[in-house]
Amino acid sequence: HEKIAILFLDLDDFKKVNDTLGHEIGDKLLIEAANKLNQVVRKEDTVGRLGGDEFIVLLRGLSHDHNALTIAENLLNAFRKPFRIDGRELMLTLSIGIAISPDNGNCASDLLRNADTAMYQAKALGRNTYSFYTKEMNVSMLRRLEIEEQMHGALERNEFEVYYQPQFDVRYNNIIGAEALLRWHNPALGNIGPDEFIPVAEHTGLIVSIGQFVVKQALSFLKEWQSLHQKQYRMAVNLSPRQFRDAELLDFIQNSLNDTNIEAVSLELEITEGVLMIGQSYIDDALVKLNKLGIKLAMDDFGTGYSSLSYLRQYSFDVLKIDRSFIQGIPKNTEDCELSNAIIAMGQSLGLKIVAEGVETKEQVDLLSTLGCDYLQGYFFSKPVPAMQLIDFSAKYLPSN
Ligand code: C2E
Ligand code: CA
Ligand code: CA
Repeated sequence: HEKIAILFLDLDDFKKVNDTLGHEIGDKLLIEAANKLNQVVRKEDTVGRLGGDEFIVLLRGLSHDHNALTIAENLLNAFRKPFRIDGRELMLTLSIGIAISPDNGNCASDLLRNADTAMYQAKALGRNTYSFYTKEMNVSMLRRLEIEEQMHGALERNEFEVYYQPQFDVRYNNIIGAEALLRWHNPALGNIGPDEFIPVAEHTGLIVSIGQFVVKQALSFLKEWQSLHQKQYRMAVNLSPRQFRDAELLDFIQNSLNDTNIEAVSLELEITEGVLMIGQSYIDDALVKLNKLGIKLAMDDFGTGYSSLSYLRQYSFDVLKIDRSFIQGIPKNTEDCELSNAIIAMGQSLGLKIVAEGVETKEQVDLLSTLGCDYLQGYFFSKPVPAMQLIDFSAKYLPSN
């Protein structure tokens, strides 16, 4: 009849330690991490290793939920100091899920499962944080599982469709190309947005085959579109971090270009900073090779993450996409205007073309044009639409002869 808390702890990115520094250092780090956990908790608490980089802490005799929170914060704080291993200083952070008995369960298995669910939430919040279990988390967890279940075989059942959103050069009232955006129509779940299913596809690894489908569809459509309008439209395709771990990625893209007889410069691959932050050499290699092939590289969602200038210099980007969140604020919000202005000036001075995403109003179009933004994309011009619709829509912008 005591109030107890279960803390489910997962070390963030521990796999990276093993991959880059080797298992021996990984083992030493685990031992040091375990020591640190033991130092922070109270005498009456228990620390156990569940396996891999997962630990469980059992806190007993709590008077308030508050106590669990304090201990979770102490744990995160303790990890702010770097570990010293073999003369190296290593930083390691934790994600913590918290389930409290009796509110979140009465038996070990329920509490563990719910603490695990809460830990997932802490990861989703950006790691290095804690999360208390709530009933709503279970709902979103179940939804995730359902999506995962339905996604198996979805490709074979032809449930995916690629939509296209045009990109405009407003100076000439001209469409320069489109971005391919994936849609999923599932009989059981209805239409599910990519923001919801792409993370699941990443997690299961299905993104590799789904991503190949997108490349194939987008390129064969591009061929048709280019021939029909006799224009060098280009096609932007999004690539997830996980797709870079596929050793065949480059060959696949190269073969797809050959099969459709499309020039490499007509293909643009959009990646986010997250891809570069993985810091693995295979990613650098892949980017260098893509560049050598002549394929264009776009930095997506610029302004939301670290917005690192050194990444822009270090890798051969051709295009910078200003994130929708900045565009939303203009022209009303002066900071957003100034930041957009700075991003455009900075990007262009590095030789990049700038695309503004999520352009919805005439005011945004006007201001961005004044700022010299190269290309615009957004609902103001068109939502992402099926292939045939894009053909009809873009025909209106052909020079009349
Ligand atoms: P993203 O790459 O940043 O794509 C832009 C998103 O903004 C799209 O959402 C698009 O429909 C939406 N959007 C475009 N214009 C406007 C506008 O004016 N207003 C508003 N409110 N939204 C606008 P969507 O299609 O739901 O895609 C969401 C995300 O899913 C994409 O973000 C991208 O990260 C990912 N995604 C989509 N298709 C693929 C794919 O084939 N492969 C991978 N790896 N990721 C994809
Ligand atoms: Ca994109
Ligand atoms: Ca984007």
